[in-house]
Amino acid sequence: MPSTNLDNEQQELHLAELLDVEARNDTFPLDYKTVRKEQQREIRTNQKLAQLIEKSEDFGSLTYDDVDLIIYKNRMYVPQILRQRTLTWYHYMLCHPGGSRLANTIGTAANWPGIHNHAAQFCKKCKICQKFKKRNQKYSELPPKTIETPQPWHTVAVDLIGPYKINAKQL
Ligand SMILES: [Zn+2]
Repeated sequence: MPSTNLDNEQQELHLAELLDVEARNDTFPLDYKTVRKEQQREIRTNQKLAQLIEKSEDFGSLTYDDVDLIIYKNRMYVPQILRQRTLTWYHYMLCHPGGSRLANTIGTAANWPGIHNHAAQFCKKCKICQKFKKRNQKYSELPPKTIETPQPWHTVAVDLIGPYKINAKQL
């Protein structure tokens, strides 16, 4: 039987829910030793980054719990390989925030160039967000009513006023 769009959609949603559970069970992706290992690996393989770290004032270094880490804008620098996992972990743990809140929350502890853009893209692709988030959709005006054309006396409108007191002199 050929699969319909609805089937595909449900499968994707199911997959997203599995990812959700997986993300919640995942350990915190930014433990200092892992971050350091991946930072060092990235510097060795990415000369551009190595130069940037040397030259740019955005980068520096700091010791966290005896682990020397590279920082970016005063926060732990997240190497490329850990970014997706970081976005996923925070996004699911925070119960699907939008891009800005996701980036800002990660930004209290960690950072990387383009984090806001990456977070926005990540949320756009999240199937659970797409399915359940309120859309900021505006609706247009109501369609005009269909006007019936009834026969005479189909509808009668009566306005009632009173009661009036009338005395004999006025008559
Ligand atoms: Zn989401």
